[in-house]
Amino acid sequence: MNQPVLRVEGLRVAYDHPLGLVRAVDDVSFSLTPHERFGLAGESGSGKSTMALAILRMIRPPGHIDGGEVWLEDTRLLSLSDDAMRRLRLAGIALVPQGSMNALNPVLRIRAQIADALDDHGTSLPKRDFEKRVRELLHDVGLPPEVADMYPHELSGGMKQRACIAIAICLRPKVIIADEPTSALDVVVQRQVMATLARVQQELGAAVVLIGHDMGLMAQFVDRLGVMYAGRLVEIAPIGQIITAPRHPYTQMLIASLPSLESKGTMQGIPGLAPLLRELPSGCAFHPRCPRAVARCSAERPELRDIAAGAQAACHLA
Ligand code: SF4
Repeated sequence: MNQPVLRVEGLRVAYDHPLGLVRAVDDVSFSLTPHERFGLAGESGSGKSTMALAILRMIRPPGHIDGGEVWLEDTRLLSLSDDAMRRLRLAGIALVPQGSMNALNPVLRIRAQIADALDDHGTSLPKRDFEKRVRELLHDVGLPPEVADMYPHELSGGMKQRACIAIAICLRPKVIIADEPTSALDVVVQRQVMATLARVQQELGAAVVLIGHDMGLMAQFVDRLGVMYAGRLVEIAPIGQIITAPRHPYTQMLIASLPSLESKGTMQGIPGLAPLLRELPSGCAFHPRCPRAVARCSAERPELRDIAAGAQAACHLA
C-alpha cells in the first residue's frame, strides 16, 4: 500500500467579517498517494481554490487557517517557519495557477522567470547548465526553445499556461496543484494543456490535485474526485464510480448538467444559487436546492461517511 504523499486533515479556513467569522473551508480531509490524480470539483465559491491556497499557506488576511493539519510526507506544513515554507513551495508542492497572464511577470522574459524560481530556492546553475535546463523544461511542456527569449504578451493563452507548468516543475515537486489550469482556453487548447500536464506528471512521478468545475475534464484526467459544496467535501469516490453512480444529490445534479450528444433537449442546470457562506442554511447546506430533501435535512448536518469501498458521501439518504 502506497503511503500518502499529501494528507489534509480537518482543514479549516475562516475570514474575519464585520458580521462574524465566515468559514470558507470547513473540516476538509483527503489524501493523495504518489502518482495519483485527485480532482476537486464544485461551483464557484465552494472553497476549492481557498483550500489550494491553504495547503500552500498562501491565505491572506483577513483570511486565516483556523484548524487542521497538512502533511507533505512526514513534514507538517502548518508548523513550518515562513522561511521553510517558502523553500518548500515549488520544490515540494507547486501551483499551476488560474489565469496564466496574471501569474507570469509581464516585464520579464520566460528565461528570467525560470531563473528567478531556481535562484530563489538556492539552485542557481552555471550559465551553460542553466541554458540546458531551460531548453529541457520548455521541451517537456511542448514549447520551442525560442520561448525563453519571449515576454508573456508574445505568447498565446495555451503557451502561457505551458510556461507556467514549466516553472511549476522546474524543481521537480512531489505534488502539483493545478487550479483551473485551462479556464479561458478554447476546447482544443484545453486538451493540449491537460495532455502536457499529464505527461510531465508521469515523468516526474508527482501527484496532482486538479481543481475545476468541468466534470468532463475531470472524467478524462483524474483517478478520484472530491466534490465540494459550501466549503465542505460532500462526496469522494473513484472517478468511474462517481460519474456512473454518484451518491450525493449535488454530484448527481452536477453530472446531469453535462451536455450530452444523446439527449439534445434543454440543458439542466442546478436550480438556485450557492449559499452565502456567512448565512449558511441550517442542517445540510444543500437542502434549499435539493430535490430529495426530507425534514431531517434542514435540522441535522450530514457528516462525510463511508458508503462503499473507497467512497464517502455526506448525505442522510446516501
Ligand atoms: Fe439532499 Fe438531504 Fe442529502 Fe442534503 S442530506 S443532499 S438535503 S437528501
